Amino acid sequence: MCLLTTNIKSKERRCCNIETYKCPICGNTDIHSIGYLNGKPYCRRCISFRGEEVEHKPSYPKKAPIHLEYELSPEQKELSNKLVENYKKGIDSLVFAVCGSGKTEISLNVIKYAINCGDKVAFAVPRRDVVIELTNRLKEIFIKNTVISVYGGHHDEVEADLVVLTTHQLYRYKKYFALIVLDEIDAFPFKDNEVLKNIFFNSLNGHYILMSATPSEEVINLFKQAGKDILSLNTRFHGHPLPVPIFKIGHLISRYYHLYITLKNILRRNRQAFVFTPTISECESLYKILSMLFKHGNYVHSKRDGRNSVIHEFRCKTWKFLVTTSVLERGVTIKESDVIVFNSDNKIYDKGTLVQIAGRAGRKIDDPHGDVVFIAKKITKEMEDARASIIKSNKALQDMLPRD
Ligand SMILES: [Zn+2]
Repeated sequence: MCLLTTNIKSKERRCCNIETYKCPICGNTDIHSIGYLNGKPYCRRCISFRGEEVEHKPSYPKKAPIHLEYELSPEQKELSNKLVENYKKGIDSLVFAVCGSGKTEISLNVIKYAINCGDKVAFAVPRRDVVIELTNRLKEIFIKNTVISVYGGHHDEVEADLVVLTTHQLYRYKKYFALIVLDEIDAFPFKDNEVLKNIFFNSLNGHYILMSATPSEEVINLFKQAGKDILSLNTRFHGHPLPVPIFKIGHLISRYYHLYITLKNILRRNRQAFVFTPTISECESLYKILSMLFKHGNYVHSKRDGRNSVIHEFRCKTWKFLVTTSVLERGVTIKESDVIVFNSDNKIYDKGTLVQIAGRAGRKIDDPHGDVVFIAKKITKEMEDARASIIKSNKALQDMLPRD
């Protein structure tokens, strides 16, 4: 009898606790994903986000000179100033900018301003490769400051003037950052991931800047409804248009033929080529074929060991072509490179992904042009939409250029 009463009581308490429980990490309140252990509720949804929390120590104003070898364009400067203004006023911003328009550069001044104020600053992106690439770039820009990267398996150091990290790792920082610049909000795994979104808001103790080349309607509407600021930048930073993809359509043999000819032409012009493939197995098999025909190639995908050194060697021109999955869709910037997407009609390629991939070509100021070739069995709506969206951005750019 006594035992029964105790059970009922503990059940009542348990229900009551679960119903009012809100996960401190991801904000989850759904009772179906809350468990009970040793008399305490716990969240099953974010169970993989466990680790030491970063202690909130006071920070002090610091100088943060920006070291950039080129000037921002007038349009970039305007946006950059607007971001500083918004941050001062406590307004969140969404930057909607085409690939290669220099989103990172636009955010430098507001990062500098926040570090100057002694605020804690993070630059978050969904993917690890991009974190590594971005950290290297930001280290060269903020030469007097500490810039670190934090991602899965790399978190010995967690405090710095500027923390560059994957959106996953934000869970370590509770109500910590006064400024978070969050790039590529439309990329996997952040996109449509409620846990990551909650973790992002939980790590924020101030204001944020979202950046994207292809923001979803949902994000744009959210910003509009909340009266937050949407800034857009259509020009690539060097003022040249985005390369418009060329379609090469045919059956299997002719697709290989197009690939062979396109790659041969790129290499003959002494340029480098990214060859995008939809899957890991296609990446490996296509590399095997191409390596029999062309020298100095390599391949990368998310499961490849040592992929960062392969990417580094590609950048140093050790490799002339790199067969890759969409692991390199964003963030990797290499001069004098052209882009081939093999089997671009595969269903993994939506419009946003294709626009991002096309944006890998011609990204450098002294090499603004580049070829982008989509090779497929048929033209998909996504391929058409991607091309239309690039043409539209280019038109917006033309309209902005002064006329004689
Ligand atoms: Zn949770």
